[in-house]
Amino acid sequence: MASYNPVNEAVIAELKKIVGEKYVWTTPEKMEPYSHDEVTDPKYVKMPEAVVLPANAAEIAEIIKLANRERIPVVPRGAGTGLASAAVPFKGGIVLSLERMNKILEIDTINMFMVVEPGVTTEAVQKAANAAGYLYAGDPCSGDSSFIGGNVATNAGGNKAVKYGTTRRQIYGLEIVTPEGEIVTLGGKCMKDSTGYSLVNLIIGSEGTLGVITKIYLKLMPLPKEQIDLLAVFPDLTTAIGVVPKIMAAGITPTCVEFMDNETIKCCEEFLREKQPHSDNGYYIIIKLEGENEEQLEEQAATIDELCSENGAMAVLVADPAKIWKARKAFAEADRARSLVFSMEDIVVPMSEIPKAVEQIAAIGRKHGVTMHCAGHAADGNIHVNILKDKMSDEEWNRVLPAVQEELYTLVYSLGGKLSGEHGIGYKRVKLLERFASPVEIKMMKAIKQALDPNLILNPGKVIDI
Ligand SMILES: Cc1cc2nc3c(=O)[nH]c(=O)nc-3n(C[C@H](O)[C@H](O)[C@H](O)COP(=O)(O)OP(=O)(O)OC[C@H]3O[C@@H](n4cnc5c(N)ncnc54)[C@H](O)[C@@H]3O)c2cc1C
Repeated sequence: MASYNPVNEAVIAELKKIVGEKYVWTTPEKMEPYSHDEVTDPKYVKMPEAVVLPANAAEIAEIIKLANRERIPVVPRGAGTGLASAAVPFKGGIVLSLERMNKILEIDTINMFMVVEPGVTTEAVQKAANAAGYLYAGDPCSGDSSFIGGNVATNAGGNKAVKYGTTRRQIYGLEIVTPEGEIVTLGGKCMKDSTGYSLVNLIIGSEGTLGVITKIYLKLMPLPKEQIDLLAVFPDLTTAIGVVPKIMAAGITPTCVEFMDNETIKCCEEFLREKQPHSDNGYYIIIKLEGENEEQLEEQAATIDELCSENGAMAVLVADPAKIWKARKAFAEADRARSLVFSMEDIVVPMSEIPKAVEQIAAIGRKHGVTMHCAGHAADGNIHVNILKDKMSDEEWNRVLPAVQEELYTLVYSLGGKLSGEHGIGYKRVKLLERFASPVEIKMMKAIKQALDPNLILNPGKVIDI
């Protein structure tokens, strides 16, 4: 087990020399926002010893070298919207905030890529691509605040992943600072690359444990010209979720296929104070279709209408996109308003197993007498299951939550699924990963971590604990 040294006055002085006095923070008021991410359970809070805001890769390299010399943990941080406590300094040390590195460096409309720094918000990336006439397809629900560097580090998914894939599929290359303080570009500007091991893909989704991402080469695509948003309302869970594999098998590739159960709809409605259609007893499937011409989209919409009706839909409506997506995106905040402490699980199963998974998850909730709200990216097989603490005592919560998770993930793995579809392992799921992943897989992950970060200074205790 690695042991670490505290951040002492001499280290603070060196950090100030590297980034400038103004960009090293040590007061509790300034550091508090960096002591947690969006996980609300107080056991996932830890104050940094220092927060440092570098301006470029060269400064980060110096900080990392200093941290290696002094054996101090460094925790890279984007916008802190993560849902796995991955950017929280549980082993102490320096939080390295990428917020000052927020420039869009280049948009190449001929080769269709853009180059950005990690601290640009996802929404700013999308808008800049749109302004140049292109699409950046990454689209997590947190896009108005999450950083693109955080998206890469977590391999963020989101609503459009069913058509375009997760963040991994949007990346041509990365510049990183390695855990030993070297600056290197992996991949780059090319569409294809079979040049040795895919180190780019190793860094994507590594949650700040294998390198600090300092520059990102993002793929651009043609901007779709037309879109239709549909809302299919079903009377129960089984018919709602059961239509998803049928839509996907019909040869249509929707841009989004999202699911909301009835309790979730009611909770979002109450939170937003905005009435949603059939919210008293409906279960939603929300579909976005995008394409080049209106006629083709209308044909696809008609097929989906037929499939939904055959599957027992009470209504299939053309939805007001602003209203319906606002409700869908309010899922986490609405649950937090209802129960400050809740555990958002991020299960993923093969898409055809989604109906079985969702039905059995509901049964687990009933068995343990816990409130569970389900919503998510149905056609990816990725459902967020929010387990609400509500009025449970801390003692009861600490007993019930692990029991529910054990049954939940036993079910998920029995269906060929995985622990996390998009939020990552972070700190929150380290023990669950050890419990459910193959020991060989864990051994390989540990070997990679130890090879790249021999002093275990970069985001220690996340993904795997050595
Ligand atoms: C309301 C809401 C909706 C959400 N919806 C989605 C969704 O649809 N899909 C989805 O996938 N996620 C979603 N999330 C989760 C979260 O927004 C994503 O995980 C996002 O990618 C995190 O980005 P961030 O900038 O906030 O990263 P942070 O939370 O700051 O960090 C996350 C991880 O990335 C690492 N990291 C950050 N920047 C760097 C860097 N430059 N170099 C190396 N490591 C780095 C950190 O160390 C940490 O391990 C949602 C969250 C909320 C609150």
